[in-house]
Amino acid sequence: MTYGHFFTVLINFIIVAIFLFILIKIITSLIKKKKEEEPKPTCPSCKCEIKEGAKKCQWCTADIPGEDDVSSDDGKASSYETRYMEDKYARS
Ligand SMILES: [Zn+2]
Repeated sequence: MTYGHFFTVLINFIIVAIFLFILIKIITSLIKKKKEEEPKPTCPSCKCEIKEGAKKCQWCTADIPGEDDVSSDDGKASSYETRYMEDKYARS
């Protein structure tokens, strides 16, 4: 009688543990996917990942043109495209 009760509790515990494990796995994979979808800002000089809104690269200490910096472009292209094209011309 007591052995039967023990095994019932044990099996219930294992079922709940497996269910929670799968649930947490699904949630973490969803969070990972969401994070990967967001484009991360990169340094135009060294192409390393930088934090959003940074003004200086933490890896090569190059100045990062800000999003609100409109001194160099005429408003046609976005600041990211301008930065990309400037970098492309600088390398060639
Ligand atoms: Zn850099």
